[in-house]
Amino acid sequence: MSKLIYSFEEGRSSDKGLLGGKGANLAEMTNIGLPVPAGFTITTQACIQYLEDTNFFNHHLKSDVLKAITDLEKKTQKSFDSEEGELLLVSVRSGAKFSMPGMMDTILNLGLNDQRVKKLAALTNLHFAYDCYRRLLQMFADVVYGLSKERFDVLLEKAEQELQKKVQDFSKEEHQALIEQYKKMYQSCHQHFPQEPKEQLFAAIKAVFASWNNPRAKVYRNLNDIPHDLGTAVNVQMMVFGNSDEHSGTGVVFTRNPATGEHQLFGEFLLNAQGEDVVAGIRTPEPIQSLAHTLPDAFRDFQEYAKILESHYKDMQDIEFTIERGKLFILQTRNGKRTAKASLKVALDMVDEGVINKKEAILRISPKLIDQLIHPIFDEEALQKAPLLATGLPASPGAASGEIVFTAEQAKRQHELGKKVILVRQETSPEDIEGMVVSQAIVTSHGGMTSHAAVVARGMGTCCVAGCGDLAISEEQKTVQCGKRLLHEGDVISVDGSTGNLYLGQIPTVVVENDHNLQRLLSWADDFAHLQVRANAETIQDLETAIKFSAKGIGLARTEHMFFGQERILEMRRLILAEKEEDSQAALRKLLTFQEEDFYQMFKTVGDRPLVVRLLDPPMHEFLPQDKAEIEQLAQKLNKSPHLIEQRVAQLLETNPMLGHRGCRLGITQPDIYKMQVEAILTSVIRLAKEGLQVKPEIMIPLIAEKSELDYLKDILTSYIQEIFEKQEMAPFPYEIGTMIELPRACLIADQLAAEADFFSFGTNDLTQMTYGFSRDDIGKFINHYKDKEIMPYDPFQTLDQYGVGELMRLAVSKARQVKPNLAIGVCGEVGGDPASIPFLQKIGVDYVSCSPYRVPAARLAVAQAELNSH
Ligand code: PEP
Ligand code: MG
Repeated sequence: MSKLIYSFEEGRSSDKGLLGGKGANLAEMTNIGLPVPAGFTITTQACIQYLEDTNFFNHHLKSDVLKAITDLEKKTQKSFDSEEGELLLVSVRSGAKFSMPGMMDTILNLGLNDQRVKKLAALTNLHFAYDCYRRLLQMFADVVYGLSKERFDVLLEKAEQELQKKVQDFSKEEHQALIEQYKKMYQSCHQHFPQEPKEQLFAAIKAVFASWNNPRAKVYRNLNDIPHDLGTAVNVQMMVFGNSDEHSGTGVVFTRNPATGEHQLFGEFLLNAQGEDVVAGIRTPEPIQSLAHTLPDAFRDFQEYAKILESHYKDMQDIEFTIERGKLFILQTRNGKRTAKASLKVALDMVDEGVINKKEAILRISPKLIDQLIHPIFDEEALQKAPLLATGLPASPGAASGEIVFTAEQAKRQHELGKKVILVRQETSPEDIEGMVVSQAIVTSHGGMTSHAAVVARGMGTCCVAGCGDLAISEEQKTVQCGKRLLHEGDVISVDGSTGNLYLGQIPTVVVENDHNLQRLLSWADDFAHLQVRANAETIQDLETAIKFSAKGIGLARTEHMFFGQERILEMRRLILAEKEEDSQAALRKLLTFQEEDFYQMFKTVGDRPLVVRLLDPPMHEFLPQDKAEIEQLAQKLNKSPHLIEQRVAQLLETNPMLGHRGCRLGITQPDIYKMQVEAILTSVIRLAKEGLQVKPEIMIPLIAEKSELDYLKDILTSYIQEIFEKQEMAPFPYEIGTMIELPRACLIADQLAAEADFFSFGTNDLTQMTYGFSRDDIGKFINHYKDKEIMPYDPFQTLDQYGVGELMRLAVSKARQVKPNLAIGVCGEVGGDPASIPFLQKIGVDYVSCSPYRVPAARLAVAQAELNSH
């Protein structure tokens, strides 16, 4: 049997899979000489085996635990279960390979019982000892037996009320009486608290193993793509007591500011307290800088260890520490969770400081984070007018409006009804996770920047204002008093996570200006990138956004989007309903003038960047009105009978429009529409050429399945273009006619198509639809069932199916390049902007990906990462 327990001296940081993140870190810190309380780690393998068969504990693990605790007694010169010498008390903590803050269980102060508490009281002080014991009883009940903490809080509050004093002023007898009541609570639930320390330890280890599978841990894993079969390690460690006296304390400190990335210690500590007091946000902590005055020696030591840790791990650290009677212990360190803004600044600063290089900086930033940097903020003018309600800590940036809810359950319920909600709570706890996920923003009245709400919200990229002391929340009444205003559940507020301000009512949002640090990182990324990133855009606003985000061009301009303005759709309808040739020609001429101006503005906006214009794609009935009133109106406008329009609508109606009369099929049956579009493109390019801008138009034909479809259309279009040159007395200039590859058959005959096409662009939306036979418009009706039942872990319209659709693409690229080695090939379906799909697209050798403008920055980073990871 493999080794099940490692002392901290035996472990290594590279053993995260076996020892969990926390265990590997404790071992690493011990080995670089930091003052870590001694202990040992039970492996994730032991957890997995225990979860498979609980007998594993007694049969295999128990004897190893007993040996490890004896070793720990020797190392610490303390005793775990005898009355001799100093008392050894231990903490038992979960620690998985990937950090899952607060999702699993922990028990502190293990080893106390009715006798040993007296000894601890004699060695330290009465209140401290009984406080530890009382907390142990409460935690043990919660973790081992699932008895809620609140039951015990009620007993504590009752005792304080009856005795008219706070628990810290209780006498020994009063403490003991309270502890007896806690024990009675166990009995009333048919449980008991074991007096034997080793029994406590065994039960605690088993409970922590089991907490791997508690519902909130599962939700967290789903949310963060953490596999469910990794198991958690268990760390058993000597307790040190931050609540020993006024020279003791505990804190959580980041080596840099996790919200902004500023290079300064950032965090909080509480004198005379245990770690859970800081994390739970129950007492308001002091900023770490004030420790310099309170406990200057410990502060100096802390500064030194923080530096050692940062340079050792080459990243910003999030350090938990405890001071016991003046002596500093480092309990935990990990790479600090931070906002997207801080991630960027820390990575860039570390390059400037020479700690990491540019490649490491690029690889360190997740493309997902970029979304947070380019998301909207409140419109400044509207913000000025909005009534300010209160201000708290700016815990996680962003801006959001929504209806107030006071519980996670209500958040979920309202979300299911399609409402946008803001979760307002005194403080959040891990049980709230599902409600937090569906909220637009999270607001708490208690707790600091390292409280649960703040840490989790930052991780999720959800806007959060924490510790907003101006709010008086009544969960029972479902109200929150903000100064003079009393708000009720359902009232709309707006939350600014970057300033900490709360406002009354809804505030419109605008897009953040492109951040300087982001530009710097992305310019490095561009230097390493191989794949180009273009954008899909056709409106001038979208084209400008694409350029602002440094798209290398426009990979797809969908022309159908240009026919939906009121005037235009009327002409389109006139064309579709025309009974005489002259009517349809008149409508086409009108459409031509619209399109000419469109293309002129579009080409002018993108300048010398490539712009691929796709000819009309959707079926014609999409342009016709469906309901009676609209048909009547149209009939009046066009001076036609409603009956004729109804007839035409009926004629055009298709059983499977996605498989029907669309794309190039439309071009073949009604070539005049494609000819009109091509004329508009050429005329606008000629106009620009006369103004001094040379453009090489790229015209793309959708939905080609047969080479002869492409041949047919290409012939018509090239001769027509020739006519245009002649008509306009213009010397011919280069242009390209390419095809979308969006049908499985097109992939299979890519060599034939490559012979005719000037370029390819994969339409993965249709290609996925046609390969799976999943309607792209209806997948929402079943994909969640597929995910829940683990039939498909992801939506293939968002992330490329590499095995099926991807295989068709790989085949198409290779066949096409055999015919034309330099054929330009792009991807303009949704997956082109998906960071998870980009490495595959890079591998099969496409030249560019094209995605919606807001996805361009993340895609630029993802293509650089794909390149760096491919070596
Ligand atoms: C595609 O099918 O992937 C594509 C880009 O075209 P559309 O989404 O317009 O059908
Ligand atoms: Mg398509």
